[in-house]
Amino acid sequence: MTSKIYILIGPPGAGKGTQAKNIANTKDFVLISTGDLLRENVEKRTELGQIAKSYMDKGEFVPIELVARIIKSNIEQNLGKSGFLFDGFPRDLSQNALLDEMLKEFNLDVDKVIYIDVKDEAILERLTNRRVCPKCKKVYHMKFNPPKKDELCDDCEVPLITRDDDKPDVIKNRLATYHKSTHPLVEHFEKGGKIIRINGEKSPKEVENQIIANI
Ligand SMILES: [Zn+2]
Repeated sequence: MTSKIYILIGPPGAGKGTQAKNIANTKDFVLISTGDLLRENVEKRTELGQIAKSYMDKGEFVPIELVARIIKSNIEQNLGKSGFLFDGFPRDLSQNALLDEMLKEFNLDVDKVIYIDVKDEAILERLTNRRVCPKCKKVYHMKFNPPKKDELCDDCEVPLITRDDDKPDVIKNRLATYHKSTHPLVEHFEKGGKIIRINGEKSPKEVENQIIANI
């Protein structure tokens, strides 16, 4: 049986990571999440993981070619499974060319690209209202999931903080990078008729149901 290939694309803060895990579980797909794969390979001390670690230890980015080799070996180990779901790769058109090359070697091709569409304003509202407990790491949202006492963790009663990643300037930068590098993939796959556009401004459960209904 030929495996189906799905890619998940969306702006930072669209909830891709959670969706990817849930969909992969529900549909019994192999989840190719580059961050998780890297961590796994480092922990299991695979040959590629050891090379990746040498970059991480120096505080350097793992070269994309090495990431691609790790992905390729994962596909190889799971060939014949019903589907693969990519999260975090490809991030731009040049990475997509790498993916294309890789898939061709296995006689595979991208079936559909799930695009979680969330407007920038909604992302900003979501992320800038996020607070985290510095002690137990519990995450709150000042609008949708606020603490019982203002700005204090329900369990630890210590003041909540805003992570640097959730500060408006940082988010605006990440969104700009997304629009410049990653979003062109949406246009690219739209031409091939492969985009499934999902309204990402609904609740996580509704977003998940929309995706499941479409793949
Ligand atoms: Zn806490």
